[in-house]
Formats: sequence, C-alpha cells, structure tokens
Amino acid sequence: HVDARGITKYYGDHQVLCGVDLTVRSGEVSCIVGPSGSGKSTFLRCLNSLEAYDDGSLRVNGQHVGYDLRDGKYHEWRSKDFASFRSRIGMVFQRFNLFGHLNAEENVACALVEVRGMNKSAAKSRAIKELTKMGLAEHAHKRPHQLSGGQQQRVAIARALAMDPEIMLFDEPTSALDPELVDEVLEAMKSLAREGMTMVVVTHEMGFAREVADTVHFFDAGVVVESGRPDEVLGNPQMDRTKAFLAKVL
Ligand code: ATP
Ligand code: MG
Repeated sequence: HVDARGITKYYGDHQVLCGVDLTVRSGEVSCIVGPSGSGKSTFLRCLNSLEAYDDGSLRVNGQHVGYDLRDGKYHEWRSKDFASFRSRIGMVFQRFNLFGHLNAEENVACALVEVRGMNKSAAKSRAIKELTKMGLAEHAHKRPHQLSGGQQQRVAIARALAMDPEIMLFDEPTSALDPELVDEVLEAMKSLAREGMTMVVVTHEMGFAREVADTVHFFDAGVVVESGRPDEVLGNPQMDRTKAFLAKVL
C-alpha cells in the first residue's frame, strides 16, 4: 500500500513535484503516464528513497519513507532497519543496471548474500528459482552482454523478486528495448500482476495500462492531473491536459 500526500520536490530553484497525491492499494497495479519532464521518475525515486523530497508525507505499508517523524530528520538509510525495509521495495529501471562482470544467477544472488546474509548455496537456488519463473533457466550462466535486452530486463525483474518485495516499481521498463522484445517483458509483468503483486509502473505502453492497470495516474508538470480506471482516464479523460497528451500518444 502506497500513500503519498503533497509530495514536493525541488532541484535547486526548479520545482519538479508540486504536491503529488497518489494512493496504491495492496495488490493493485497503478500506471503513471505523462509527458517527459513531468516528474514521473523523480516520484518513483522518492518512493524508493533514492531521492529526498522537500515536503509532504510518503508511506509504504504504513512505514514512513524519507522523514522519520520521531526526530524530523531524513532517514539514515544505511541504518539496518531502514535498509531492510527498503530492500523490500523492488525497482526495475529503463536501463537494466545489471553487473556486467557477473552472470545472471550471480546478479540475482548477490543482494541475497550481501543484504540478507543468506549463505551462497541458498542464494544460488533462490536465484535459479526466480530466473526459471522468468523463463531464463537455461541462461543463468550468461553474463549481461550475452543476453538480449529483453532477457536482461527479465534478469533485473528476477533480481528484484528474489528480495521478496512488498511492492515493485518499474520506470519505463520497456522503452530501451527493441520493439520485438517488448512483449516478453510485458508478459512477465502481467503474470506478476496476476499473482497479486502491488505494482507502480511508469510507462508509455498505453495497451499495457489499459489491460493491466487498476488505476492510471496522469502526471503533468509535477502534479497528478487525473486518476481513475484506465477506461476513464485513457478512454474518457476529463481534463484538457490529459486530452491533449493522449491525442499525441494514442
Ligand atoms: P521522462 O518521461 O523523460 O522520463 P519524467 O517525467 O520521468 O520524464 P523526471 O526525470 O522526473 O521526469 O524529471 C522531472 C524534472 O526534473 C525535469 O525537468 C528534469 O530535468 C529535472 N531533473 C531530474 N533529475 C534531476 C537532477 N538530478 N538534477 C536536476 N534536475 C533534475
Ligand atoms: Mg522518467
């Protein structure tokens, strides 16, 4: 469950988030759509504590992300409790961010060993299990440069899933892929959604949003302009800014 209220963020003098209100219920898929520069990635990075925000309140499954209300200070996220909480927020980026010198299995296993303190053989069998779920059992020994973009992205998803995430964040996971590789990644995400994973997906794939999202949020200039069911927001938008955006992309 995600509860964001009034999230505000500046880069220097430039305000990129201007009071974002957004709710994602457990087990739901939320898609965020909107023009370039509207703050979609910045918002996701706040959710994952990769970025500090300046005002507002952000909770994931009841736990405050960012500020610790007890002392008003920003989390020292290297603190043990917070690192463990944060490791249960999975994130998949546009670029696959795999370690080039490790094979697929090692890429998935390494955080289990480093962050979770799992022993190597248990981490390895967990890695193989997640790679198999992603249809990559026979590619486990390959390094990223020996894998297609779609396979690399599925390794990145397997790596996030191995951490038993309570929520998965995706930032344009298919937009760096050749067109013929997009579907295999979208299919993997759909099966995750069917299993009931809570997901926040920034995407330009309107077909995916229509089919899979419970809620679509349209971002523009650092605010959520419109939120609702995909058939409402994409099929019958109420706001002029949403209509103008959809006229360009659909
Ligand atoms: P896109 O669809 O192109 O990925 P986006 O909606 O994800 O766009 P953001 O990446 O969140 O947009 O960027 C929002 C604004 O913040 C942009 O104007 C961008 O230039 C600015 N911005 C993002 N990151 C930084 C940074 N590290 N320092 C300064 N400005 C930044
Ligand atoms: Mg972005």
